[in-house]
Order: sequence, then C-alpha cells, then structure tokens
Amino acid sequence: MNNQKLAVLALNDVVVFPNNEIRIEYDDSFEKASIDYADNTDDKYLVIVHPIDSNYVVDVTSLPSYGILGQIKLKLNVPNGKTRVVIEGIKRVHVSNYFYQNHFYQADISEVVIPSSEEDKNYYSLLMKSLDKYIEKAPYMSNAIISQLDTVESLNELCDLIGSFLPVDYNKKKKYVMTISPIERARILIEDMNEEIKFLELERKIESEVEQEIEESQKEYFLREKLRAIKRELGDINSKEDEIENLKKRLSKLKCNYKVREKIKSEISRYEAMSSHSPELGMIRDYLDWMLHLPWNIYTKDTKDLVKVEQILNSTHYALEEVKSRILEYLAVKQNTNNLRSPILCLVGPPGVGKTSLALSIAESLGRKTAKISVGGINDEAEIVGHRRTYVGAIPGRIIQGIRKAGTANPVFIIDEIDKMTKDIKGDPASSLLEVLDPEQNDKFSDHYIEEEFDLSKVLFIATANYIEQIPYELRDRLEIIELTSYTEYEKLDIAKNHLIPRALEEHGLTSLQVQLDDDAILAIIRYYTKEAGVRELDRRIASLFRKIVKKMLLEKEQVFYPIGEKDLEAFLGKKKFSYEKTGKKSEVGVVNGMAYTAFGGDILPIEVTMFPGKGELILTGSLGDVMQESCQISFSYIKANAGSFSIDSNLLSENDIHIHFPEGAVAKDGPSAGIAITTALVSLFKNHAVANNVAMTGEITLRGRILEIGGLREKVIGAHRAGIRKIFLPRENRKDLDEIPEELKKQITFVFVEKYGDIYQRLFGRG
Ligand code: ADP
Repeated sequence: MNNQKLAVLALNDVVVFPNNEIRIEYDDSFEKASIDYADNTDDKYLVIVHPIDSNYVVDVTSLPSYGILGQIKLKLNVPNGKTRVVIEGIKRVHVSNYFYQNHFYQADISEVVIPSSEEDKNYYSLLMKSLDKYIEKAPYMSNAIISQLDTVESLNELCDLIGSFLPVDYNKKKKYVMTISPIERARILIEDMNEEIKFLELERKIESEVEQEIEESQKEYFLREKLRAIKRELGDINSKEDEIENLKKRLSKLKCNYKVREKIKSEISRYEAMSSHSPELGMIRDYLDWMLHLPWNIYTKDTKDLVKVEQILNSTHYALEEVKSRILEYLAVKQNTNNLRSPILCLVGPPGVGKTSLALSIAESLGRKTAKISVGGINDEAEIVGHRRTYVGAIPGRIIQGIRKAGTANPVFIIDEIDKMTKDIKGDPASSLLEVLDPEQNDKFSDHYIEEEFDLSKVLFIATANYIEQIPYELRDRLEIIELTSYTEYEKLDIAKNHLIPRALEEHGLTSLQVQLDDDAILAIIRYYTKEAGVRELDRRIASLFRKIVKKMLLEKEQVFYPIGEKDLEAFLGKKKFSYEKTGKKSEVGVVNGMAYTAFGGDILPIEVTMFPGKGELILTGSLGDVMQESCQISFSYIKANAGSFSIDSNLLSENDIHIHFPEGAVAKDGPSAGIAITTALVSLFKNHAVANNVAMTGEITLRGRILEIGGLREKVIGAHRAGIRKIFLPRENRKDLDEIPEELKKQITFVFVEKYGDIYQRLFGRG
C-alpha cells in the first residue's frame, strides 16, 4: 500500500473512524469525480481527509498530512438526483503528497505506525472507568457500545470506538481522528467524557428540580381543589378563600415598594388566619381594599409643551389674561427647575369665576388626572390625615381618598375652600394641611389609617379660596396666590357667547341652527335672572332654558328654529328674579348707599338711619361685626364733635336715640369700609337732606374725619353699577386702583376721590 495513489474525499462535517462506517449523499461534482474514480478501482479505496480550515476545501495547503483510508461498500443513485455511498473506515494513513488531476485531488499515501507502549494498559482501564461512569449517566449509550466492546483488542481500537460514539461536535471528533497516539487520544477522551458527565449531571439536576416543583405545585393545587370540593359538599364554601386568592392576585399586579408589599402580605396572612366570625375581619378587608387600590407607583407623564398648555387654557377660558399668564409662568418655572420646593398655586376669587375649571384645564393640558376635595367647614384634622385603624368606622383622610379616586400618584389635586376651615378642640386641620402641602415633608405623607408613607411630592396641588384674608395665616405663607375677580356684564356676555352657550347646546343635543340667543336676551338673563360675581348661575339658567326648549321641541314634534330674544325669556325662565336697579325710585332722607364686597361679588349696601325721642343712644341692627359697630360709633362721635361745622342742631343728638340699620339683616356684615356711608346717612338724617339714590360711597373714616383706603374696589364698583349707581365717592388713596375698573363702567360712572369727610359734605350738603 505504500506510495499508493488514491482519490481524496475531503469532508468538513462528518468524520469516519477506523472500523466504522459513514453514509454520505452528494451531488457536488468535485466529490462525485473522486468517488467515481475510487469506485472504478478494484479495491475501491479512497482517502478521507478533513481540511484544516473547515471552510476551505479545494486547496492543497488546507489539506492535512493524515487521513483515513476508506473503502466504498455501496454506491447507489437516489431519486433526488444525488448519490449515496457507504464508506468503511479502515485505518489512519499518512498523506505525503496531494495533486490535482481530472478535476479532483489525488494523494500519495503511506502506512502509519500506531505507537503502543506498556502504559497503554493503564490508559485502557482509565478509559474504561470513565466510560462506565459515562454510561451510568447516559444509559441510552450503553447497549450499542457494550455490544462492540468485545471486539476491541487495543487501546487504539477502544479510543476509536468511544470516539465514534461520543455525542460531541465535528471538531472534537476531527481531533480524535487526527491524533495518532492512542495514549494522547485516551487523555482527550477522558477529559471530554468527564466534561460530558458534569454536563449530564447538571442537566439531571435541573430536570429533577423542575419536576419536583411541578409536582409540589400540582400537589398543592390538587389538595386545594380537594378541600374546596369537600367544603362545597358541606355547603361551607366560603367566599373568604376566593377573596384571599383575589387579594393575592391583585397584590402580584400592584405597583408598590417593598415595604408596602410586605405590609399587605402580612395583612393578607392575618386575614387568612382569622376566623370568619371575627369582628376584625371586615376591618382588615377594608384596609386591604384601600392598600390595594392606591396608585402607589403610578404616574402619568406631563406634556412638556407649554404652547399646548397655553392653547388649552385659552380655548377653555375667556379673558383672564393676567391669571393665565401667571399660571403659565408658574408652570414654566416648575418645569424648568423641577423644583419641588415651589409654592402651591392658590386661586382666590368669588364663586363661579372659573377657579375650579381653570385647575381642571391645567390638569387636562398637562395630561394629568385630577382629584378634588373640599375642606370647607371641616374642623377635625382626621378629615385630612384619617383616623387610626382602631377607631370604629375609620377611613383614610380626604387626601388619600382623592388620590385613590384620581388613580395616579401625580394628579392635579384641587383643594377647595381652604379659607373655610375652622379650628376647635378636635384639632387644627390647617396645620395638617400644611404637612400635606409642604414639599419638605410630603414625600413621606403618613395617613393615620393607611400607616404606610405615601409620596405626595409629585402631586400638583391647587388650592382655591374666596377670601385671601380668611386663609389660615400659616398656609398663606406657602401659597402662590393668584386672584380672580368678578366679571362685568359684558365679560359675562362674552363668556356666555363663546363658552357657556356652545357647551350647553352640545350638552342638550342642540345646534345653533335650532336655538339662538341674541345679545339682549343674554344680557337680560345676566341682569334679571342671576346675581353673582361669576357665571355659574348664568350657566344654570342657560341650561334650564335649553332644557325647556328641548322639551317643547319634542312635545310639539317640530324641529323648528327658536330665536330667543329678551321678550321670550319669561315664557321659559319665569318672572324676573332680580331687579336690575336696586336703588329705590325715590331718594330718601337718612338712606345712603354703602358698598359691599360679598360672596356674590360686589353689591350696594343701603344704610338706613332714623331717630326718635330718647337720650342720645345709638342702636345698631343688621348682624354687624365688631369692626362695623365701632365704625358706627366713630361716625356718630365724629358728627357729634363736628355738629357745628355741619350746621347740625346738637339738641337733635342729645334728645333722640339714633337707630342705624343695615338691611338684609340676616346677612353678617363686617369691616370698616362703610364708615363714610354711615356718616353720610346720619348727616342726611340730621340735616333732613336726601342724598340722590344713584350715589354710593365706600371708605373708612377716622375720628378726625380722614378717609382711608379700602379693598375690593373692582368688585364693589361692578356691583354698584349693576344696581344703577352712577356716582361713587372713594378714598383718594384708591385712585391707583382705577385701572382695575373695566372701561365701559368708567364711562358711565363719575368717580369722586376724597381725602377728608369735609369734601363729601361740601359736595352733597354744602349748598343746602
Ligand atoms: P369657581 O371654582 O371659581 O367657583 P368654576 O370653575 O366652577 O368656578 O366655574 C363655573 C363655571 O363657569 C364653569 O363651568 C366654568 O367653565 C365657567 N367659567 C368661569 N369663568 C370662565 C371663563 N373665563 N371662560 C369660560 N368659562 C368660564
């Protein structure tokens, strides 16, 4: 066989061992040429080699210097156009030369002497031991290999037998084939088998663990089902179990921190362990319900686009330019600095001027959810921070209630009426509220009921109030106050036309093709059917009007057009509720219009005084506060002191009792600003000289007759105008506030600014 020339079959995915067979299918012309050549020789020999670089076959440099002598045992054409051969490996051979001829490689081969030594025996037994171990772990190998072990006569053969069976990849197998020394081959095989054994052990372990887990959970499931079936049989099926399952399921889906989760878990365990007759059961159930429904870790993402925020504010709210721009500034700074310490926004103004709806629009424009609570009238701090769980009927405070309703941990949270909280023995809700609003502490807000800390630091709180003065002082400090004021009739008209009416039409399924209100009709609703600073009542009247129109349409089954003018209003809204000009037809002695700032905005406050024989005593009625009573005394003293210069007969003052009354007696009134009106009413009485009823005045008076600045000018003037006032006396110091007065009113009203009472006296009584 020495220097025999044989066809070369280069294989790069399978290996043939001596005493072993391979089957291959081929269609490649290169393989075909060499196999055909070999098949045509007498003994059908060829040499199988494995290219060194398995990607590259047809290159002499990549062909190795050892190969396996093979013999073709069978060759047949199979239907798919390929040829199948079975080749038996015979022994390792040395390849001394490759050459390319007739489109395939041929090689000169020579015998290889396989070394053997004394040590072979030791390695033989080592290899056998490893094999035993291996078979133990991979029993599926055993039969095939054991049946062939009998034929093995040397370490060399044993190595090849094991090498051919071992389920390793091509490269490893290639290495077994190409390693000539049996001892060396045995070493590699032992190492590989040990590795395989480890791998098999690991595989086994994982399998058994998984199996065990499945078994245990199946066992538990099975037992639970059985228990349930037994209970069902006994009619004892208890919703508590289903509930526990539900609670656990809900907990698994709950987004919350570790501490909260542990707390809920332990409460569920308590619940589970408790007898179904225990009175505490319901309490724990309620607690779990709260804990599992709080949005511990749910946040919406803010719209960062301030232009969009501005657009939404503009589209939902007419005018209020100053207010909107301050809101935008506030949001811009908040966004820009991400400052958690920024103050809380507080919208202050009379009812119905859009405080709440602005806050809702802010939420909408930022893409946040909303929560809204009112703290008006509360006097118990538990309302804010909840009752302890031990308290019968305990529930969380309003803050947590609001958060739960909002469903996120960063809603816009509207707190209404922060000026209407009261303080008493139950505690001071304002200071609890302070904790809620304080960015230094509110990331760890602790409701007494919930017990676990809830992070309120991402909440955008917006407070609302009617009067700045009544906001608890400690809170006021924390607030960024933005004032909203009353609307004039004309502003209300615009709001109605652009916002309220289109919205109401839509809500009633109407269109402007079916119903149209002209401006006079809208103004008439404003004047005769509402009395308010804002537009809430107006909104209601419009809704009521549309309701009636819809009803009429449906009853009369006519889809007609309803143009609504002022004259049509009575038919829909009934008789006028308010008279526009409140002032009487006649001017009367001892009656003067003061001006008030009430919850409805501004209004006139007619002051009546009268006298009857007595001892110069002062009688005051009309639910007056302390300051107002003092104001009456000051006026009276001032007149007594200056009776001479006002040409008042001082006997009148000492021989009569004087009664000052403020109508709408049940409505509480206070403040010093009626001073000059009280004084004027008294002067009018004592001088028997009427003051025109379209005149009004507001200003504090001192004992020396100086006139001091007052607040709420805009509201008072709007209210007075509504009531038909055309001349108003005001403190000189208020001249600066004239800017606040809408232009159309300035055109219709004469303002007289006065510094001392003498100025008023001169103008009203001077010539009399
Ligand atoms: P407040 O909270 O100040 O008492 P609301 O926010 O409840 O008042 O407002 C009452 C109604 O008046 C709301 O329907 C609101 O949309 C509407 N409204 C108030 N001001 C405006 C305005 N400037 N533009 C449009 N609608 C307004």
